[in-house]
This record gives sequence, C-alpha cells and structure tokens, in this order.
Amino acid sequence: MSYVIPVPTVPSVPVAGGTSRFPVRRIYCVGRNYAEHAIEMGHSGREPPFFFMKPADAVLPVEPGATGNMAYPSLTSSLHHEVELVVAIGKGGRDIEAGRALEHVWGYAVGLDMTRRDLQAEAKKQGRPWCIAKGFDESAPIGAITPAAQVPGIATAAIELQVNGGARQSSRIDKMIWNVGEIIAHLSAAWELAPGDLIFTGTPEGVAAAAAGDVLEARVEGLAGLRVELVRR
Ligand code: MN
Repeated sequence: MSYVIPVPTVPSVPVAGGTSRFPVRRIYCVGRNYAEHAIEMGHSGREPPFFFMKPADAVLPVEPGATGNMAYPSLTSSLHHEVELVVAIGKGGRDIEAGRALEHVWGYAVGLDMTRRDLQAEAKKQGRPWCIAKGFDESAPIGAITPAAQVPGIATAAIELQVNGGARQSSRIDKMIWNVGEIIAHLSAAWELAPGDLIFTGTPEGVAAAAAGDVLEARVEGLAGLRVELVRR
C-alpha cells in the first residue's frame, strides 16, 4: 500500500520517567467544570457537562524540565490561559459507568487549554462554533503523562498556574463539578472512547490574558510540571 502524499506524523506526548511516548488520537475538552470559573464567565455553575474538541495535532508536548515555545497565535489580542488536569485514555469503550471509568485511564498530565477569548466571545454572541477560538495550532500545550498507578492522590491534588512567577490560578481537583469518572461516563455516551484519547477536564477560576514574552508554569500536584514561553510569531 502506498499513499499519494506523505503520511502525517502521529502526534504524541512524552511519558514521565522514560523514553516511551503516548500517541494522541483525539482531544476532548470539558467546558465550565469548576463552579468559580463558570461564575466568572457569567454562568451559574450548575449545568450538565458539555464538550468541545481540539485537533490531535494541536498538542504542544513539553518534556519534563524543558521549556516549550508556543508562538503567540494570529487573529487574537486576548489569548487566555486555562490550566487543566488532562486524562489519558488507555482502554476504550462506550457507555462506560462512572464507577468503573478509572479502569480506562492510562495516566494523567497537566495541560493548558489556550483560548482566543476575543474570538470565543464573538462566536458565543453570533451562535457560531468555537473551533477558531479553541482548536488552533499549538492550542494544547501538555506536560509528560504519569501512569495513573503512580498518582493515587490525583482526585484531591492541587492545581495551579503561575505567569512570570506570580500566582494566577490556584484550586484543587476535588473542586470539579463533574469528577473524572463522571466526565468519562458522559463523554462515552456521546462518543466511543479509544486508546490515545486525551480529555482536558476544565479549568478553575483565574483565567486571564497572557502576552508574548510571558512564561507560564502549570502544575498539578504529583505530576510532571509544564513550562511554556509565549514567543512572538
Ligand atoms: Mn478549558
């Protein structure tokens, strides 16, 4: 079998503590999953989970200890950071029960759901899709994935983001409205999950704009950190 054009590279994320990598199939994202963030965006924080997607090759994988370079994207003057726990699916399925959902999780990472907030606000106003606001190139910086068995305390871990050394976002994973098991249950009712899927589980309050030259340091307790510098295009 031959292809008529070069075969695209499989996007992948480093795995902590080794040289193996996790191949990415799809990137799902949960909207408004922390009450305080839902409120800062003008909502009650009491709605069922909803989802959007980013292309798999929107990942910007960053090795532990390294600094990733993210080019400040085109078309926006309001690039927001959203620090999030990312779930890496190792075993697929559909209609997965929340109580058994963690059996499908291979590991966890910290990620940034970078957002062209001005374009998202315009899309909301016009009733248009969010793709241009959420699914642009390099919109999903992500640190190394840690196997789930190595982070038994993930459900109550601290999550935080610093910009240029100053605190911007700080919360705990147990403040999610929908926990990881419930997210997987809802997602797998709508799509069949498969190994390689990543789920960005929503951001806590404190989202704000970042500028070219800023250094973003994202952390979830127990996981490899994520350091990204925004560079001028
Ligand atoms: Mn988000």
